[in-house]
Amino acid sequence: MATKKILIIEDEPNIRELVLYNLKTNGYEGIAAEDGIMGITMVHREKPDLILLDIMLPGKNGFEICKELRDEGNNTPIIMMTAKTEEEDKVTGLEYGADDYISKPFGIREMMARIKAVIRRYETVGEARDVKEKASETILTIGELTLNVERHEVTVAGKNVELTLKEFELLKYLMQNRGRVFSRDQLLNKIWGIDYAGETRTVDVHIRHLRQKLSEEYNDEGYIETIRGKGYKVK
Ligand code: CA
Repeated sequence: MATKKILIIEDEPNIRELVLYNLKTNGYEGIAAEDGIMGITMVHREKPDLILLDIMLPGKNGFEICKELRDEGNNTPIIMMTAKTEEEDKVTGLEYGADDYISKPFGIREMMARIKAVIRRYETVGEARDVKEKASETILTIGELTLNVERHEVTVAGKNVELTLKEFELLKYLMQNRGRVFSRDQLLNKIWGIDYAGETRTVDVHIRHLRQKLSEEYNDEGYIETIRGKGYKVK
């Protein structure tokens, strides 16, 4: 795993140095800004993995920085460093989009534990999002026939096949239920809707077109099978 870069925005040199030192000994890359303006600049330039943010700062205060970053769509995790007496600051910080806060004076072990927890939380959310994005791209494959549900794309041997909406829906349904036999009435209801006043012949026509398109220019795999007296299925 790549070294995490952590930016501390803090005007007190003692705290800054202490935190930087401990970030380094805990395996992080630490960088620092001593006022609000420089802090924002460094967020943009350095793209840290996490920000430790003081509230009372020259230039721009911690709340302003937090709000500004969130308003521009920057979701870098932020831990606010609040003075122990300022209970309200914690609430305000979270309202402005901070992820966590730590009260000053803080022990360095507590600080490291918070950093670890916030980074882990973000990674978990990120992984969950990745998995979700992958899952939403459903691709059905049979032999050389591929159907991408989200992109509405059908290819045979890598070549694009242009289908009408109903042809696509029909093929998708058969592929999703591979091996199952559907009667013409069932397909009519499923693809054209229960109220569709068409004839079952509509299904035959679409199946014929589908077969032509899937096999005409490409190799004929015979994807859709006719079950005499029953209906159709995908092999
Ligand atoms: Ca300060």
